[in-house]
Amino acid sequence: MNMYHAPPLRADPWRRVGDWLFRHRRHIQMAQWVVVGLYLALLVVPLLLPLPDRTATIWNNLTRFAQLMFWGIWWPFVILVTALVGRMWCGLLCPEGSLSEFASRHGRGGAIPKWLQWSGWPTAAFALTTVYGQMTSVYQYPKPAALILGGSTVAAMAVGYAYGRNKRVWCRYLCPVGGVFALMAKLAPLHFRSDPFLWRLSQQRGEKPGVVECAPLVPLRTMRGAGDCHMCGRCSGFRGAIFLARRSPNHEIIHVAGTVPKPAETVLILAGLLGLAVGAFHWSASPWFISAKQALGGFLIDIGWLAPLEQALPWWLLTNYPERNDVLTVVDGALLLAYMLASAATLGAMLSLSVALSVRCLGRWDGRRFHHLTQTLIPLAGAGLFLGLSAMTVTQLRSDGIVIPFVAEARAGLLLLAATWSACLGWRVGGLYTESPGRRVGSMACLAFAWTVAAGSWILFFWVW
Ligand code: SF4
Repeated sequence: MNMYHAPPLRADPWRRVGDWLFRHRRHIQMAQWVVVGLYLALLVVPLLLPLPDRTATIWNNLTRFAQLMFWGIWWPFVILVTALVGRMWCGLLCPEGSLSEFASRHGRGGAIPKWLQWSGWPTAAFALTTVYGQMTSVYQYPKPAALILGGSTVAAMAVGYAYGRNKRVWCRYLCPVGGVFALMAKLAPLHFRSDPFLWRLSQQRGEKPGVVECAPLVPLRTMRGAGDCHMCGRCSGFRGAIFLARRSPNHEIIHVAGTVPKPAETVLILAGLLGLAVGAFHWSASPWFISAKQALGGFLIDIGWLAPLEQALPWWLLTNYPERNDVLTVVDGALLLAYMLASAATLGAMLSLSVALSVRCLGRWDGRRFHHLTQTLIPLAGAGLFLGLSAMTVTQLRSDGIVIPFVAEARAGLLLLAATWSACLGWRVGGLYTESPGRRVGSMACLAFAWTVAAGSWILFFWVW
């Protein structure tokens, strides 16, 4: 196969960064193997150690250190970095993506089946891993972390081995966090831009530049957004039409997201990130959860059925660490599941109603507008996820004596910024569908309910409970 070779040197600094990525593939691959080594060490070594006792800190205990790295640093900051520079983590450093591509390079190269290309897999996988992670206390213990992260890595390699050649089929269609990263990347002020005019010009000149191995299978010629691109730089300079470029962080949501409705993304935003994930972060602090537990416990005692109040399950089904005095009973597990599902259903329904009313204010009902307006909530969804995950960072560091100053102020500032950003997007998107100022204001008033619900759930968590 005739492969695409190096682009010419260019003056624009961002294009040079893209070209640098192209030219330093070997160094990037070396860095990927270092990350794979660190990842496997942090996943496996804690399994061989006893559970940390009360005196263990991140400085003297590898299990505590791995917890902080995975859930306190890696997760929240990859979300943040993706919103700032696109999916560079995926393309340049992600160990799971690297291993999946490695397996694909040496695999059987099968055709990708239709069922695997279903657009709902990332949303379904995100929901399942979120629920399962809470049931097994993945943030606290090494065994569920190894099961969930390691299981996902093994599955990524198996899919890589079975389908595609030099591709990342897992990352494109199945990764449980791929959907979240695709949403966050829409906010990034950097992207690989494919210019249709320059592409046509190159074709008219009869250029035959070879083939680009785009691992996540992005259609290079028609690429208009950053959601699927892993920012690996392998297409930088291709046909003189693709290059790393700056853009407005609003551009993709206003001008691209509405062109192709993506119902799976709508479900992920409304019921996933702003519903289920909120329930997963909230339950342990929620007075409603405690009240429901007391009410159900009282009821079971009244009817004399005590087994669900005492029965535990294996650690891989429900948290079970008697040596740490941390055991969830069947009642705890059922309530935890119910709490997360109720959060997804209730918050998802309130947000959907708000967006639907906003669509009606803009004119006749239109499903495409509904999906488009939902995308304006991405800043709030991303900020909520970052706040929930970074709350663990703050707690973990505080328990080791490291107190981060101005945390409450930073949280309030981030929520305010995200709500303002969502409002600006809502106003601009509304303007695409109506010229009437009255309709636009009405649409914003309905969306304001969604911002209140989305921000309010974090205000409850951080400042009320
Ligand atoms: S479009 Fe594909 S090849 Fe180009 S930077 Fe993105 S992931 Fe890499």
